[in-house]
Amino acid sequence: MYYTKVFEKIYNEISQIPNNGIVCDYIPELGNVNPNKFGVHLITVDRQEHSFGDSEERFSIQSIAKVLSLTLAYNLENENLWRRVGVEPSGTPFNSLVQLESDNGIPRNPLINAGAIVICDVLLSHIKNPKEELLHFIHKVADNPTIVYSPKIAESEKLAGFRNRALVNLMKSYGNIHNDIDKVMDFYFHLCSIEMNCRELARTFLYLATDLIDPETNQKFVTTSKAKRLNAIMQLCGFYDEAGEFSFRVGLPGKSGVGGGIVALHPGKYSIAVWSPRLNKKGNSFLGIEFLERFTTEIETSIF
Ligand code: GLN
Repeated sequence: MYYTKVFEKIYNEISQIPNNGIVCDYIPELGNVNPNKFGVHLITVDRQEHSFGDSEERFSIQSIAKVLSLTLAYNLENENLWRRVGVEPSGTPFNSLVQLESDNGIPRNPLINAGAIVICDVLLSHIKNPKEELLHFIHKVADNPTIVYSPKIAESEKLAGFRNRALVNLMKSYGNIHNDIDKVMDFYFHLCSIEMNCRELARTFLYLATDLIDPETNQKFVTTSKAKRLNAIMQLCGFYDEAGEFSFRVGLPGKSGVGGGIVALHPGKYSIAVWSPRLNKKGNSFLGIEFLERFTTEIETSIF
């Protein structure tokens, strides 16, 4: 009850702010969404759930899924993974090419596009059918077998993916892509096409806020040490060249996507997902950040 009241109060405040944000326009299929949608869902580690607005409507989670593919790759490669991709904030837009050449094809971190493409390549080297296996992993983590890729969005990304192809080609020239480029990109475009609603998204990321057990292996989905590192990467790199600003304003590790979703976590306490499709100039949800800033301020808790 308390959280739902807080959500409502904050929503009423932020809906007064002029929102000049625009819905993602470089992936044509993402442009079909109603820009005024707004949803939020919070799940605590002891499984209390609170929601507001369009929290049951699915949207394209886009780059948020990069944390899930990273988790799978990290579990397979352990610390060897960091030979292929760094853990430094990039300070550049998510699809930037500029650092890749001076860094010899090693992306700054796994949450910018270049880094996520390398992670797809790593998974292709380990797994015969990575699209299926990733979805299976997500079904287990999310405790939800209904989550799927959107073939329409994946196709739209493929048609518009000129910069992503430039990134993969540049990395291939440095030897940091081991598999066939078309296979890597097909997997990457599918990864970005996953759809969830706010409730499903908040629940999916609960494994980084508390220990959850994989029913197949009877072990944690990630060790405590890996959860620490994944949260650190989200804190420093989850919002590209706005990661500092997000930390400063919200004070939680999180990840955004150009579909207008943001997930943020308070380790040991809760996971929260917000969706509002209008993006600011950095490609992050304008109202999503406004909302989360006021939320952590209002309830007086953040990790800092
Ligand atoms: N699919 C998008 C892209 O590759 C993901 C970007 C994002 O969500 N920031 O450009």
